[in-house]
Amino acid sequence: MTQSTVIAPTIVQDCLPKLVYEIAMPQPQTHLFEIKLTVCNWSGELLNLKMPVWTPGSYLVREYAKQLQDFIAVGDRGDRLATTKFAKHHWQIQTNHHNNIIINYRMFANELTVRTNHLDATHGYFNPAALCFYVPEYEHCPIKITIVPPDPSWRVTTPLPEISPHTFLATDFDTLVDSPFEIGCQQIYDFNVLDKSHQLVIWGEGNLDPQLAIDDIKKIIEVEAKIFGGLPYEQYIFLLHLSPSGGGGLEHKNCCSLLYPRFSFQAGEKHNRFMQLVAHEFFHLWNIKRIRPAALEKFDYERENYTRSLWFSEGTTSYYDLLIPRRAGIYDQQ
Ligand SMILES: [Zn+2]
Repeated sequence: MTQSTVIAPTIVQDCLPKLVYEIAMPQPQTHLFEIKLTVCNWSGELLNLKMPVWTPGSYLVREYAKQLQDFIAVGDRGDRLATTKFAKHHWQIQTNHHNNIIINYRMFANELTVRTNHLDATHGYFNPAALCFYVPEYEHCPIKITIVPPDPSWRVTTPLPEISPHTFLATDFDTLVDSPFEIGCQQIYDFNVLDKSHQLVIWGEGNLDPQLAIDDIKKIIEVEAKIFGGLPYEQYIFLLHLSPSGGGGLEHKNCCSLLYPRFSFQAGEKHNRFMQLVAHEFFHLWNIKRIRPAALEKFDYERENYTRSLWFSEGTTSYYDLLIPRRAGIYDQQ
């Protein structure tokens, strides 16, 4: 190996753009996240920014950029840069040869689903696919995200590693998209299964008994770990939103978002249905997140990604979400 081939990767690494997000919510009751994105080390006359139109796991085009407002770009010295909106999800900035470019924008967040953003006086929840831009061709670059809560009592929950207080690191854009954020006074319950740490994180009030839920969640984890031969993570988060109505789930590699009607946890059929939702999203941490159709191996965030394999990714998962609570002894054959 020559000396130049040893040195080259370091130089390339240093030249890569660095993306730093600061996400604030100074007036949460307005439902507006305030986002500052700094792109450092940029070279080039133009900087393109794109926002995903869909989220992996929720396969329809959602046009997240429709919630964006007040887009402004400035250079190193605070001078305003010209911007052009090329498409619903695509902005282009004339950099005037600045190396550091700061982009400010707001995102309206008042849609409580597992795949969208929700901000009010009680909490903030966002999916990075529905809030953050990527720089085309640089999706592999690491991204730093600092959360600025509106009140010191608000905590931050996300599967991303925390590198300093309220600052998190995503190794690339796919990892960022796979990492929802919950910010507020959420209840956090820690528990261990098979020597791995888990959290049940709850926003909202209802008739859920967290300890009872954890007892059954533990059984589901054990049954699924047995099917797949162990747990392929260090920590896993069940993020549960108790909603006035409506439900749903979205799987991630080390986390899932669950939305469930807040007074629907009575023992019996309702409790069982919730456990099927847990079993379903947890099963996906293997089937679709770690084992997935070739068509979804590399996500194209600009358009819908077609595959004929969801019968397996979703169908098999739905079959097992009925079977696993039965194997776990949560309900019987009947
Ligand atoms: Zn599913």
